[in-house]
Amino acid sequence: MKLVLFLLIVVNTFTYGQSISYNFDTNNLNTDYHEALSVLEDYLNSNPQNQEKNTYWNTAVQQENITFDFLENEFEPSLYMGYPIHILSIKKKENHYTIKVQFSYCNPDNSPNILAIVNYVVIEQNGTFKLYNALTINRKKWDCTTVGFVDFYYPKSHKFNHEKALKLNEFIISTCKNFNVTPNTIEYYLDEDFDNIQQLKGIDYYLGMNGDNTPKGKASGNKVYCGGLGEYYTHEVFHALIDHNYTNSHFWASEGIATFLCGSRGQSLSWHITQANTYFKLHKDIDLNEILTLKNIDNITSYHYVIGGLIAKKIFEKGGWKLLSQFLNSGKTNTDYYKAINTYLGIKKENLNIYLRQQLDIEANI
Ligand SMILES: [Zn+2]
Repeated sequence: MKLVLFLLIVVNTFTYGQSISYNFDTNNLNTDYHEALSVLEDYLNSNPQNQEKNTYWNTAVQQENITFDFLENEFEPSLYMGYPIHILSIKKKENHYTIKVQFSYCNPDNSPNILAIVNYVVIEQNGTFKLYNALTINRKKWDCTTVGFVDFYYPKSHKFNHEKALKLNEFIISTCKNFNVTPNTIEYYLDEDFDNIQQLKGIDYYLGMNGDNTPKGKASGNKVYCGGLGEYYTHEVFHALIDHNYTNSHFWASEGIATFLCGSRGQSLSWHITQANTYFKLHKDIDLNEILTLKNIDNITSYHYVIGGLIAKKIFEKGGWKLLSQFLNSGKTNTDYYKAINTYLGIKKENLNIYLRQQLDIEANI
């Protein structure tokens, strides 16, 4: 450990721009390496959090995706939220350059605080250097099977389950019908371990990587990344189908409906309700009138899943798909969300604590 620390201290660190430094001496690199690095540097200095038309990225990915840099929205509000950028290495294979980058700062006690270590790909074609997502390159090593609306990407070791793939397509058709939207095609990346999908995207490390291997997923545009539930991870597919059609929706409304219909983290809504009911009986001080200020009960159950899901269930029981669709379209702000609960369930914000505890207890004992 001492040796590693010593090396880190003596390694030449070169600073370019405002917050980009290097963990190696760039003076010894050939001109083409410098070209590849400067394309990345220029991109990182171009306010990448805005994802505006960008000269440093290949045009195809920009035409097909609003967020063309698939790493940008890995974090809230953005990977590019101001962490100092440290370039760790550059490796060349044929005309591909893979650049490994660390986003981190030092805590006051000098310990490193690392947000992520990610890989960018620069490809040189006819003397022009452009950035590509690592996912686009890495997925060539995986298999791909198209079933209905879905391109399934999975490692060669995985035995593709056609039945589950067909079932997912049935879910897509019925969900789109219920919410009155047109189904779109989906890129679906699956593996037993979510972190293998993160690797495929070019992410070596991300803050929050800890924990057991419970099912985990993420949706971004028409892409879903699903660890642990094979070909049938409907929660993320719900987001990829519905969210862009209901842009006037509150985060809790979307998460709640997704959990009501599909469960979350591999567990059904009723499972989360049983967990939460036990928890709230032990924590009578938690004020559910202020639900939107609450985050996680534990590493599987979050408030927006279990309480959001319960509220969605109650609205569905009252007015079916029509009322649930209206609820999903009832505004983005916290005031809008509380107002919608009052409109559709007749419960004022100041009565939520009593109402939600009663309903949780009823649902947990059905
Ligand atoms: Zn979700």
